[in-house]
Parts: sequence; C-alpha cells; structure tokens
Amino acid sequence: MTPKPPLRLHLDTDALVHNWRALDALSGKARAGAAVKADAYGLGAPRVVKALAAAGCRDFFVAYAGEAAQIDGLVDPAQISVLHGPLTADEARFMQARGIRPTINSIEQAQCWLDTGGGACDLMVDTGMNRLGLALSDLGDDLVARLDVEVLLSHLASADEDSPLNAQQRARWIEARAMVPSRGCSLANSAGIVLGEGYHGTLTRPGLSLYGGVPRAELAGTIRQVAYPQATIIQAREVSAGDTIGYNATFTASRAMRIGVVALGYADGYLRCWSGKGMLRSNGTPLPVVGRVSMDMTLIDISAAPHIRAGDWVEADYALPEAAQACGLSQYELLTSLGRRFCR
Ligand SMILES: *Cc1c(COP(=O)(O)O)cnc(C)c1O
Repeated sequence: MTPKPPLRLHLDTDALVHNWRALDALSGKARAGAAVKADAYGLGAPRVVKALAAAGCRDFFVAYAGEAAQIDGLVDPAQISVLHGPLTADEARFMQARGIRPTINSIEQAQCWLDTGGGACDLMVDTGMNRLGLALSDLGDDLVARLDVEVLLSHLASADEDSPLNAQQRARWIEARAMVPSRGCSLANSAGIVLGEGYHGTLTRPGLSLYGGVPRAELAGTIRQVAYPQATIIQAREVSAGDTIGYNATFTASRAMRIGVVALGYADGYLRCWSGKGMLRSNGTPLPVVGRVSMDMTLIDISAAPHIRAGDWVEADYALPEAAQACGLSQYELLTSLGRRFCR
C-alpha cells in the first residue's frame, strides 16, 4: 500500500456546481461551458468534468489534444473542444478518430485539418489580442469556406477591465460572424459574461470563476470558494524568546512560542511570497506563517492552538481574490501553481 500524501486539495463540489449554475444564469440565453484546460486550472480535470457534466454542462474546453484524452470517456467527445487546435497532423488524426473538435487558429491549421479528413471544428478569430486565431482578413480564404464550423470563437484581452477594447473586439467578432457561417458563436470568458448580453453569443467559456475566482467586482458575492489546500503538521516544537526561525533567520520570537512544521512548501506551489504573510487555520483558529516558506515545509505559530499535534490537518487561507491581494500572485497563478504532491 502506498502511503497517503500529507497534502490534499479539497474540492467543494457543491460550490463548483453553484458557480457554474450562477455563470450559466448570468449568460442569459447563451449556455455556459467550462474551460478545463491545465487539469481544470490545477484542481483535477476528471473530477471537475464529472461534477459539471452531472449538473448539465455540455461544452468543455481544453488547451491540448493530450488534455482531451484525459477527460475522453467522461463526456461525449463531441462536447470537447481543443483550443490550441491540431499542432501536428497526428493530433488532427487523433481528434478525427475520437470525434473531438479542434479550434482552428490559422490558415495552416485549417489546411492540416482538411488534409487529414476534416470534420466539425471550432474557429478562433483574432479580434485584437494578437495571440491565437485567424485575422479578419483571412476569413475570405477558400480553406475557411471549406470548414464545417460548429462555434465561431474570439477571446477578450481585457474583459476584467472597463476598456474600450471590449466593445472593439465585440464589433469585430460580430463582423466575423457575418463572414463565416457557423452553428454557434462565443466570446466571453468569466469576466466577459458580466459585460452583458451583447457578449454572450450562444455559448460562454468561464474558467476562473468556476473555480472561485472573482475577476470583476460584479461577481463578488455570487462566486464561492472551491479549492481548499490542506496539509498536515509534521512536528510541533517549542521556541524561546530570542530564537530565530527558518532559513535566513528572518523571524525572531519575541516570546516563548509553539511552532508547527507544516508539510507544505514552495515545491507545492505555496510560494515564498507567503513568507511572513500567509495564514493557516485549525478549526478556524488563525495560525500565521512565521519566517520563510521552504521547499517542503512552512512554519506557523500554533501558540493559539495548544491542542495541535503532529498528524493534525491545517488549512491555508486561499479565497482567491483576497489571497491574490495578499501575496501578489494572480488568481489564476494561485490555482495553477498548486503542486503534484496534493492528493486531488
Ligand atoms: C482560458 C480560456 C478561457 C477561460 O478564461 P477565464 O478567464 O479563466 O474565465 C476562455 N476562453 C479561452 C480561449 C481561454 O483560453
């Protein structure tokens, strides 16, 4: 029997489903899909996809063909779209064999998809981000006319801000829709959903807010925390006034203290920005991080929780908007950097 890891990433499935339903309702006449790329932002794509599919979500977006394979079998492959498209002819054949849709991002990808046999696909149009997608000026190409387009997509660069770019991108997306026939159309990520009905099309693509992220103030109060990093205490120890704690002795005890050594470090994505700033809890009692976070361990002041022993679980404060504010990482980075040692 393999010993269980001393770290777990608790997923509040009810909150996840609540968030999807709330975003689906905010999407009005459009239905909400789910961006589950990067292992559902680090939370574990299979369990996220199962929960959302059971709640009625029908559209799942991954970045790479290999990520589609990870959730193939949990939903109908026709419900999966691969955002980066076919990167090679082998990937195109893989998606054709399974019935997974690629998002076509360039004339080269359109050529590759048609040469390997074609089939239903999505089409990404660049409307001002200059990342992936065909330019409006490419849309008259014969190869584009030969594509069987399910959803015509574009992606907003600044949906989390009140930027004039939003309306500009929306206007170009509408222009593109008039040039390429498709069965559906999609523009909004989590933040874009809040910009209103004109941004919804037939399908929205939230990612971050499904998992507890609040990219715009309008979503505060609606979106619930989903991911809870938890770790065990490896050792509890006593220190005296004047003792220093951790690497580079950045913390000096001003009184006798009890210190808990937590099985959580920067190798787990609990980065050094939490040094002297992070907060863990035992049954709600706050236990502040003292000194530097190290690779596999973090030291916390457990003086306020004298009952704590080695083997007990503690939980890091990880409400995404507040955590991002406290440590300077983005809400996306806070999720996707959580390491492989967490039991998911
Ligand atoms: C990641 C991604 C999304 C989801 O964006 P969030 O900001 O996480 O809601 C939507 N569309 C595309 C093309 C993406 O790459």
